[in-house]
Amino acid sequence: MQSHPPNSVNDALRLSSDNVIAFSRRARRTLPTESTRDSTHQTATLIQLWQKAGERDGLDGVPPQVLDTLERLEQEGRPGALCVLRLNEYRLLEETFGQRIGLVLMQRVGDRLRHHLRGDDLLAQIAEDEFVILLDGQQENTMLSQIAERLLRDCTGNYTMEGLRMHVNGNLGIARFPLDATEPALLMRFARIALHETTAGSPMPYHFFSSRLLQQLQERVWLATELEQALAAERFELHYQPLFDIATQRILGAEALLRLRTEEGELIFPDRFIPLAEELGLIVPIGRWVVTEACQQLKQWQQQGHDPLRIAVNVSPVQLADENFVAQVIEAVEDAGIAYSDLELEITEGRIVEYLPLVEQAFQTLSAKGMRIDIDDFGTGYSALAYLTRLHWRTVKIDRAFLAEVPRDANATQVVSAIIAMAGELGLQVTAEGVETEAQYRFLVEAGCHMGQGFGYARPQPAADFSRLLQLREGTGWHCDKLD
Ligand code: C2E
Ligand code: MG
Ligand code: MG
Repeated sequence: MQSHPPNSVNDALRLSSDNVIAFSRRARRTLPTESTRDSTHQTATLIQLWQKAGERDGLDGVPPQVLDTLERLEQEGRPGALCVLRLNEYRLLEETFGQRIGLVLMQRVGDRLRHHLRGDDLLAQIAEDEFVILLDGQQENTMLSQIAERLLRDCTGNYTMEGLRMHVNGNLGIARFPLDATEPALLMRFARIALHETTAGSPMPYHFFSSRLLQQLQERVWLATELEQALAAERFELHYQPLFDIATQRILGAEALLRLRTEEGELIFPDRFIPLAEELGLIVPIGRWVVTEACQQLKQWQQQGHDPLRIAVNVSPVQLADENFVAQVIEAVEDAGIAYSDLELEITEGRIVEYLPLVEQAFQTLSAKGMRIDIDDFGTGYSALAYLTRLHWRTVKIDRAFLAEVPRDANATQVVSAIIAMAGELGLQVTAEGVETEAQYRFLVEAGCHMGQGFGYARPQPAADFSRLLQLREGTGWHCDKLD
């Protein structure tokens, strides 16, 4: 298993080799010319082509015409760009109207694209829904952007075939030679990486390859594997950060914060893997483990006879879409034998509005049982405050970005004071996140903030260390060096 994201281009190629659509040497061809394109023979050739797709010719899907031209341009020292253009709706259209319509559509798109070819430019269909376009002499981004926009503008739009009108649009990935690579197979893969970016939430219909994109993709592949394996091998860990009473400085509970431990022992922090875990749906089993583990841990501390403690876990809105979420949280509490009011669920403010129906549905049942539901990272969400009155929120956790500026910045200080006052009006408790300095602590005492959390009090730590911390601080009237 790989322990960290691959560094070399070769590593990256190994990782992504399965994503490349193979193109059989025997089946290769460029687009039919105007005069031959509408014959049954052409259709037959194309069908044959797709049947042969999947055989590898060792050139990773680069059609020989492209290969030859690239070799020649390289010998002549001429720059250029290799573009992969994909029609987004092709598969849906083919499934809806049949393969013949799909084939005719691709020929029509090819005709439109061909108008843009100049000199040694080349156009080849390399998959059911893809063309490769080789642009001779162009390596400059502004020029290539204009060409990409023209190509996409021209092939995007309405097509009428056999009485059917259909709207089609495409995306384009661009790799430049010799700037990005000179080897044809590498160029093809780099163009595909750029193409992948257009479908990964980017509003741009075309993208240039860059080493940053490659790194992101490598990180993604590596992290996805890590997440799967960590789940199977139980390599997730919870670290616990104390939540303390501002007035008394006593520990009230802990927030359970997730970490991933690689096989090599490296600790990975949640900001790096939660978004991908959400995207892959893995946050559902991971989140289930978090709640179960946190409840069990709290039970252990309670059995050791510590002062009353509660535990907070972070919940991703993606977990709420899982119909078993509510039942599993209830089961975790029941199995551990803790009180419902000992469990706090935190959800980030920025995502509440987007998921409001799910949030209301899940949390209404749980808060009715006595669980505490908190708004995390408050103040950063740019969301409508109406949601504040729609649920039985217990606590607002002010994002640490505000406190970081307190008391130095007058505006941030006023915002924190205003949030504390507003929460008070609404009957909510307030926790300040990121309490690091004595000055911040003093401000919070003055402002009447109820609870705090931050490195100045204690950092997140493994359960065993947290147990020691509890023993150390209980009944001693302990106070933190930095805070007092
Ligand atoms: P969060 O829930 O707002 O957690 C607080 C984060 O602030 C933690 O980062 C904590 O280490 C950090 N922090 C606490 N005090 C201080 C301080 O004084 N200064 C600074 N600079 N940082 C402080 P961490 O552990 O890296 O977690 C980051 C975020 O990842 C969490 O933010 C939470 O949104 C998410 N997360 C953590 N665990 C889970 C989980 O089990 N499930 C889900 N869905 N998200 C989680
Ligand atoms: Mg939190
Ligand atoms: Mg937070």
